Amino acid sequence: MTLPITATDLQGRDDRLELMSVPDLCPRCHHRIHPKVVTASSISDRSVSQAIFKCTNQKCQELFIATYVFNAKVGSGGRQYELRAVAPFSAQPADFPETVQCLSPTFVEIYNQVIAAESRSLDQLVGIGLRKALEFLVKDFASAINPDKAEQIKASMLAPCITQFIDDINIKECAKRAAWLGNDETHYVRKWESKDVSDLKLLVRLTVNWIDSFLLTQKYIEEMNAGAPSK
Ligand SMILES: [Zn+2]
Repeated sequence: MTLPITATDLQGRDDRLELMSVPDLCPRCHHRIHPKVVTASSISDRSVSQAIFKCTNQKCQELFIATYVFNAKVGSGGRQYELRAVAPFSAQPADFPETVQCLSPTFVEIYNQVIAAESRSLDQLVGIGLRKALEFLVKDFASAINPDKAEQIKASMLAPCITQFIDDINIKECAKRAAWLGNDETHYVRKWESKDVSDLKLLVRLTVNWIDSFLLTQKYIEEMNAGAPSK
């Protein structure tokens, strides 16, 4: 079903047109919506039209701009426009386990900046950001399990830090491979040509999951170390 609207150009002339669809996903809060049209504007040659919508999610209610391009003439003088893009887009922050949020808030902050860069198609920054996020995650974890060596860990390079200070085999092997791919993202020549940034992202996620499992396991072992408490 098309939506008829009136768009005004720079000279104040009204243009009646039909939008072939309205955005059904808010780019700010990511909820499914039936947005309300606030106003619309058309470019003088009428090739492009932009409509401002208001999100109908009570918790959001933000405005956003939908850009339409001319698609076809219809009926007697009618013009149909096809949805091309919506902006501004707010990236959804990644959902990390509480253990990892407490362990390394800087990792979470950098990772969410990676998500924001990715949502803006800044592809070249994603791998570099993941490499930096991984370093904070690994060093904060290594420092947490080796508190007496925290200064040494902070000053070490990432690869030796993983090898020397992380014993858990799953965390070590995933972090090591993430570091290899992370280095590929920052260097001129790739060593792992069959792997890309999506593999790096997955390995960082695996490292997060293994760290979460490790910390939760450690917590319950410590809390329930001596058998059931006597009544
Ligand atoms: Zn919204």
